[in-house]
Amino acid sequence: MENYQGVFIFGEWTGSEIHEVTYELLNEGRRLADELNVPLGVIFLGPEEALSQAKELIFYGADIVLAALYPELSSFKDDLYAQIVAHIIQEKKPEVMLFPATSMGQAVAPRVAGLLKLGLTAHCIAFEIRQEDRALIQIRPSFGEEIMARITSRTKPQMATVRPGVFPAAKKDETRTGEFIKYEVPEKLRQSAIEIVEKRPSDKPEVDITRAQVIVAGGRGLGSKELFGKLFELAELLDGAVGATRPVCHLGWASEDHMIGVSGVNVSPKLYIGFGISGALHHMVGLQGVDTLVAVNIDKEAPLMKRADIAVQADVKEVLPLFIKKLKKLKSQKEDD
Ligand SMILES: Cc1cc2nc3c(=O)[nH]c(=O)nc-3n(C[C@H](O)[C@H](O)[C@H](O)COP(=O)(O)OP(=O)(O)OC[C@H]3O[C@@H](n4cnc5c(N)ncnc54)[C@H](O)[C@@H]3O)c2cc1C
Repeated sequence: MENYQGVFIFGEWTGSEIHEVTYELLNEGRRLADELNVPLGVIFLGPEEALSQAKELIFYGADIVLAALYPELSSFKDDLYAQIVAHIIQEKKPEVMLFPATSMGQAVAPRVAGLLKLGLTAHCIAFEIRQEDRALIQIRPSFGEEIMARITSRTKPQMATVRPGVFPAAKKDETRTGEFIKYEVPEKLRQSAIEIVEKRPSDKPEVDITRAQVIVAGGRGLGSKELFGKLFELAELLDGAVGATRPVCHLGWASEDHMIGVSGVNVSPKLYIGFGISGALHHMVGLQGVDTLVAVNIDKEAPLMKRADIAVQADVKEVLPLFIKKLKKLKSQKEDD
């Protein structure tokens, strides 16, 4: 068996800066590298302009940064990125390789897995090291059932994609030192079959609930699109954002930008209030970063009620309009003072 060593992450370049998720991967990668007692490396691809930012990854926990910086890497091309990452992995042989589950990460990781004939676990939310054989336990919600799957790889490096927003970002420490290597990529690997004909700015998502400090979320228990709409009023009063479960997005009560959970986004507000939400695992996975969780449900046995810091057993049809009324009154009193 060949000797694989080190924990590597994929550092993502957005076109103007390093993607935030890179710092989350650095944080978790550092923890895993320390547990395995190996260095933490970053594979970074981008244009020459990214040089100074790529060097700074050392301040965020990397021991080695392998940066391939070429003009042809200024725009993301699936085949080009995948063949270069695969080449570096083959040469450096890390035992663990983590990619972000962003659009770019989700395009590169399976192509690398295909090129190198490796396994890949998608959308992980936690990792553990099994010390006896150094195996990486890759944890993610299972596809259909209410269970967390614990997955190990049969191939090396053990590769996984990581959901953005799950791990805290690494903090900058300018006293850290490490090795920055400008990686030479052979000419033939810098050829792509993709030609970019035109670039248009993508429509920004309607809302970004991942950064909201207050989230009022609604589920099927709200019973109608009309009552769900009241959440927007409440969110405005609380200076927050609206979250939703998957079924209500599919019912057309909210756009998918509002969806929290496995198929949606992870959120980390100080306050989350869930109205008429049962708290299925697929939804709860997105709530790991919540500080204070409030649930309103007629069923006190609902999982979200059990997980809540404050569980309100009540009918949302009564509570939600009442809550809005009360807040409006409090606000106008405050303005009068
Ligand atoms: C592969 C896969 C991926 C998924 N991904 C996601 C995901 O990312 N996000 C997600 O949210 N779901 C996801 N789901 C769906 C998930 O499993 C649940 O079905 C869903 O979260 C339940 O949504 P809900 O809480 O709105 O509805 P329900 O489970 O139907 O819950 C409604 C709740 O409202 C309460 N209620 C009813 N009437 C009232 C009332 N008048 N007042 C107060 N409470 C009331 C009920 O007691 C109940 O607890 C996924 C499922 C699969 C299979």
